[in-house]
Amino acid sequence: MRRHLTYQEFSYIVRFRETEMSLNEIPIEEHEPELPSSETFRHHGSVALVISPESLQHEPGILIHRSCSGKQPIITLSVFSCDVTENIPIYDNHIHLSPRGRNIEALKEFESAGGTGLTLVTLPYDEVVISEADDFLRSYQITLSMAERARSSTELKINVAVGPYPVLILPLAERFGLEKAEKMMISGMNIAAELVASGKANAIGEIGRPHFDVSEEITVSSNRILLHGMELAAENGCPVIIHCESGSPELMKELSEMAGSASLDPGMVIKHFCPPLVRDDETHGVMPSIPASRRSVREALSKGDRFMLETDHIDDPERPGAVMSVNTVPKRVLAMLSNGEMSEGTAWKIGADIPKMYDGPKGKH
Ligand SMILES: [Zn+2]
Repeated sequence: MRRHLTYQEFSYIVRFRETEMSLNEIPIEEHEPELPSSETFRHHGSVALVISPESLQHEPGILIHRSCSGKQPIITLSVFSCDVTENIPIYDNHIHLSPRGRNIEALKEFESAGGTGLTLVTLPYDEVVISEADDFLRSYQITLSMAERARSSTELKINVAVGPYPVLILPLAERFGLEKAEKMMISGMNIAAELVASGKANAIGEIGRPHFDVSEEITVSSNRILLHGMELAAENGCPVIIHCESGSPELMKELSEMAGSASLDPGMVIKHFCPPLVRDDETHGVMPSIPASRRSVREALSKGDRFMLETDHIDDPERPGAVMSVNTVPKRVLAMLSNGEMSEGTAWKIGADIPKMYDGPKGKH
């Protein structure tokens, strides 16, 4: 039998799947006017456990906290996960942080939205102008130290990708000439691989080619740099994260073949900002990392479950929600789990099993 709670005198707001309602409007199945600890709370067909604040912390469910202020008892409800009994792993495969941005605060927001892991990717920082090869190391160290700080203030699993950002070849070529620019980018790649080999970083990325039209000689040079990166990845048993023009089956085939010539498993090539290419004949073995728009995730799910999700969040104070808000992946996954568009098995595969393959380095082949 369903009835309404009788706590008329209390004021509280329940945030539940992006809806807000007062507790009085929530039908429950229990007869007790109070919701005892360890009891099941049902709402809109979903189930959560009522658990005491002390035992709460990281368990999913609904926190119902009773406290007294003067004569009025206050009940606070907060929902920290929906109708799941186990923490669903939720991984964002492409996040940038800026020393000038919200950095750790952004990752705390990601975590409280339900995120559990991410790949933090180096981006050229205003703090370091690349004028010589060693500047790459200073730039990567910024990423590593932001990751370290985030690890100590969250429970998130954070993998780090370091590498010479592909678009950098343009200003470097302008300043130093293409030949020297290529050498600097190669050095940047070597330094990235050393950080992977020493266990400080997990992946080489993002590397590749400028994502817009460039001259033939820049493309050829970028391909040589990328091939070198793939060879280093093969040596170190780590993935490469590719930044290049928008993905197509033909492009995935090209990346797969390039990996082959570097003796790198195409499955260790992750195409960042990939459209929903999921079937084998679309990916050619390359791993798609797909921006988590509702439309793209739906299309990806209609084709299979071998893909990763990302936001490419850039933590830019001038563009706070770009490229996507930092909480997009958890929001999308939790919403699709609760409306049945995504199965729990698929969520585990894209949130844990696939990211685990890229923890690297796995030793030399
Ligand atoms: Zn990026």
